[in-house]
Amino acid sequence: MQRRTFIQKSSSAALAISLLPTVFIKQDDYEYSILELMGKADIELFGKGINLRKEAHDAFLEMKMAAYNAGIDLKVVSSYRDFSRQEAIFERKYITYTDQGMAPLDAIDKIIEYSTIPGTSRHHWGTDIDIVDGYRKVEGDVLVPSKFEAGGPYEDFKLWMDEHSETYGFYLVYTNDPKRRGFKYEPWHYSYAPLSIPMLEQFRGKNIAALLTKENFYGAEHFTKGFLRSYIQNNILDINEDLL
Ligand SMILES: [Zn+2]
Repeated sequence: MQRRTFIQKSSSAALAISLLPTVFIKQDDYEYSILELMGKADIELFGKGINLRKEAHDAFLEMKMAAYNAGIDLKVVSSYRDFSRQEAIFERKYITYTDQGMAPLDAIDKIIEYSTIPGTSRHHWGTDIDIVDGYRKVEGDVLVPSKFEAGGPYEDFKLWMDEHSETYGFYLVYTNDPKRRGFKYEPWHYSYAPLSIPMLEQFRGKNIAALLTKENFYGAEHFTKGFLRSYIQNNILDINEDLL
């Protein structure tokens, strides 16, 4: 991972060496704004239907080419998502569940089985993707864990990714470790670690609970200190430890 990053950087750095010495600032030193980390900034994304930050996009294309050779078509179902898109998803679910008679905090607990609180999605970063095998014809929802298991349509995809994705910098975030809390197992959600590790490190350095308390989307008025503390601990930080 470190070495790949170094190679990519040194080739672009060599090109710009005489023009712009600032390219030597290491990626790790880049400071992301809180707007970027919360999906509220207009960031530059690359690749039609891919929509990732440059370095993540380039690594994804390399991985996609390798997967093609193994008969697998890495198809992006979802990648970058901004704050307002996540807000719309959250509010739609919140209204649906509370209209069915659920208490606000129960509705929020149900939403966060699979969906994030706006401002805290890793999809805000331009580093994370939900992917499947586009060659497989699948009925109904594609992002269902059983479809990635033995006998399921994405079994080959899963086996290939298990063996190769980390070579390209992509790590599963929400693993099937039974001791893990927070979001349920998502065999489709991968993160480009060379960028997302420093981003998470910077994000957790902010006062996330205080930031969320200032939001005013539907449901946010019910966030308590205790709820936010466990959400941050379980849903944001209890992930694949290689990404911490
Ligand atoms: Zn995802």
